[in-house]
Amino acid sequence: MDKRIYLDNAATTQISDEVLSYMLPYLKEEYGNPSSIYDLGADNKRALLTARKSIAGVLGCEPQNIYFTSGGTESDNWALIGSAESRCQTGRHIITSKIEHHAVIHTCEYLEKRGFEVTYLDVDEQGRVDPERLKKALRRDTILVSIMTANNEIGTIQPIERIGQILKKHPALFHTDAVQAFGHIPVLPEQWQVDLLSASGHKFHGPKGTGFLYIRDGVKLPSFLHGGKQERGMRAGTENVAAIAGMGKAAEIAGKTMQKRIEQETALRDYMIHRIEREIPYCRLNGPRTDRLANNVNMSFSFVDGETIVILLDMEGICASSGSACTAGQAASSHVLTEIGLPEEIARGALRFTLSEKTSRQDIDDTVDVLKQVLEKNRKMNPAYSAFVKLNQKR
Ligand code: PLP
Repeated sequence: MDKRIYLDNAATTQISDEVLSYMLPYLKEEYGNPSSIYDLGADNKRALLTARKSIAGVLGCEPQNIYFTSGGTESDNWALIGSAESRCQTGRHIITSKIEHHAVIHTCEYLEKRGFEVTYLDVDEQGRVDPERLKKALRRDTILVSIMTANNEIGTIQPIERIGQILKKHPALFHTDAVQAFGHIPVLPEQWQVDLLSASGHKFHGPKGTGFLYIRDGVKLPSFLHGGKQERGMRAGTENVAAIAGMGKAAEIAGKTMQKRIEQETALRDYMIHRIEREIPYCRLNGPRTDRLANNVNMSFSFVDGETIVILLDMEGICASSGSACTAGQAASSHVLTEIGLPEEIARGALRFTLSEKTSRQDIDDTVDVLKQVLEKNRKMNPAYSAFVKLNQKR
């Protein structure tokens, strides 16, 4: 295939032309330091404010609730470690789920080594956290609850608003990792009664190495990086103005186009799932059919190894993933797929396709056509598949 079909938008997105041209002046003629008081600096300071306002506009909050970071990982680390540090006098218990991104899970493990106790909640077979189970896990010494807004592998959207209602009566802080959700579904921290919310610029057509943490008014977190007075003394270091401006522009565009994208991507997602289920035997959809990110298709194919299929698809110009990009290359199968109850061999045969507004019906048709051929060829090389087919023919 001559063209590339990019279906790995949960790993990262292509920076949009509009975002790139918006960033360029800050890398060239507008090179001032936003902390400088002369005009060249002040223009940069204004660019930061504009980005803060654009992001706040999408979240329905005030610009002062937004703190720029280097991405989702930093925002998650800040939210979790900062909450633990600031609340350790009142308790040392944290609740999260077993299917969080490693930016949360590994930070929880770090905190466990420092004397905190973490409850990792089970999820159901669709990857949903049960709010009632969460309620039961709450203790008097619970200081933080961290549940992601939407899962990066199987697209499950969590009942964040319901969890917010439960936590209203409890002093624990509520953090949500909205890295896969921001710009893709309405994300409303104030309506959901969330205290802390993480997002990442490169997941919504902004530049890599940008992100933000929403901190609700009145929530006191210790500063994450110590030094200058940037980010109101909360996150020191000269700001990456071009990248932050780009993230702000990307957020503005994402907010404006969200509804149309959701409709378009949902139709294509369901079309892709339907074609695969109809035309490729021995497959299953991972994650829910509804309450699922509009751009996420995650399916397991028996008798194949997902990593191998990703490489074979790449040779045909198709970019997909066999799990989350952050775990690619690891021998173990995805913790998310294991936690929703998939046996090892089914988890290993999982492929994730994540769409964008640029994905066309033709892209989906071409991908499914190639996938069919690649799977068939690969399965034929697997003796277990041949034996299975023979057995089925005899019946
Ligand atoms: N949280 C989730 C749910 C993610 O999907 C990712 C990245 O894939 C991250 C956090 C980390 O974000 P970043 O790559 O910006 O550090």
